Amino acid sequence: MKTFFIETWGCQMNELDTQRLSGNLKLRGYKRVDEEANADLILLNTCSVRDKAEQKVFSHLGRLRELKRERDVTIGVCGCVAQQEGKRILERAPWVDFVMGPGNVGHLDAVLEEGRRLAIDFPEDRNYDYLALDRTSPTKAWITIIEGCNKNCTFCIVPTTRGREVSRPFDDVVAEARAAVESGRVEIELLGQTVNAYRCPVTGNDFGALLGAVAEIEGVVRLRFTTSHPAEVSDSMISAMRDHANISRYLHLPVQSGSSRVLRRMKRLYTREKYLETMARIRKEIPDIHFSTDIIVGFPGETEEDFQETLSLIEEVGYGSLFAFKYSPRPGTPALRIGAAVDESIADDRLQRLFALHERIKRERLESYRGRVVPVMVEGPSKHDPAMLSGRTDDYWVVNFHGDPSTPLGSILGVRIDSAQHHTLRGEAVA
Ligand code: SF4
Repeated sequence: MKTFFIETWGCQMNELDTQRLSGNLKLRGYKRVDEEANADLILLNTCSVRDKAEQKVFSHLGRLRELKRERDVTIGVCGCVAQQEGKRILERAPWVDFVMGPGNVGHLDAVLEEGRRLAIDFPEDRNYDYLALDRTSPTKAWITIIEGCNKNCTFCIVPTTRGREVSRPFDDVVAEARAAVESGRVEIELLGQTVNAYRCPVTGNDFGALLGAVAEIEGVVRLRFTTSHPAEVSDSMISAMRDHANISRYLHLPVQSGSSRVLRRMKRLYTREKYLETMARIRKEIPDIHFSTDIIVGFPGETEEDFQETLSLIEEVGYGSLFAFKYSPRPGTPALRIGAAVDESIADDRLQRLFALHERIKRERLESYRGRVVPVMVEGPSKHDPAMLSGRTDDYWVVNFHGDPSTPLGSILGVRIDSAQHHTLRGEAVA
């Protein structure tokens, strides 16, 4: 029996692509192995978002060259670096057998059979075979509903690496969610780079309609989605969230900056005012919502005044969670033409001030749970203390708690919160 190994970097979309690749190979009779030394086929599913992604891939490929000298092994580079670098990978590392972009994940068998070395187009038919997915979690299913992105944020490489938006048919997504529930998954997470830009190519149904339809499938205990774009938040999306108790009260809505001037340079398609208005609309309908966001600090041309606007926006929204990064130029992005990033030491200082502000806001929020009993979905033993269980609240906080270790994964338990840790809550299951 032939064997394969997949190394995965990056976001959930990449993780899901790995599940698709793995499922496809298993259908073809391959067996997955945990060591690349034991594999006949090695796939590197790469990500280009993080710093030095390309160097990491090439240094990994350098090691694989030795393996290839020793024995017959097929090496494929997939994911966003594959899409971005294309045939440059084959030139620099000619021992690589094929380079395949995210648009061709559903066509791996054809790439292998036809011996294609470069597959970085975006075929109209993405060949999304959900029944062949090799899901890793027994209780949770990721479901892609839209691939690619039509926005052109100047700092982002996704429109180049993942192509234009292609939404999957509504009925297909609902059928996949049903099949996932039938296979025991109680938590569904809908995925897309701009998940809420979803529009069914057949019926025109929008994201709100899809959310409602999936939430109403019997057996869907919790429904989440990521990543939303602030300019695509619609009334139907908000009402679906309000009207379905099993849709998580958590919304990740990347703002990137609190300054309209910087947002314009980023081409984010909203202003500070518009973003705040959107947040207010959501909060009016779902008052207990947990907002989280992404922020880029030190974007080219960001002044102290712009940064102060970011701080005041964080304060005004009161994000429970926040992911902030220093701007780092990405090859092939339009931001490279906008100008140099803010001086490194200034950007470092801004990042520290931002984290300090957010620490206080997060702490207040976490402390507000003390003494409350909240429903928690059990995900498994706690990473830090295997004698405890770990799970998530409806609004996506991690809770580590004392409870019956034989509790089936995916169950919902009432947990009394006793204390707030740095990022998590702690408590005890109650009857
Ligand atoms: S909306 Fe998101 S994925 Fe699309 S270009 Fe902007 S940052 Fe990139």
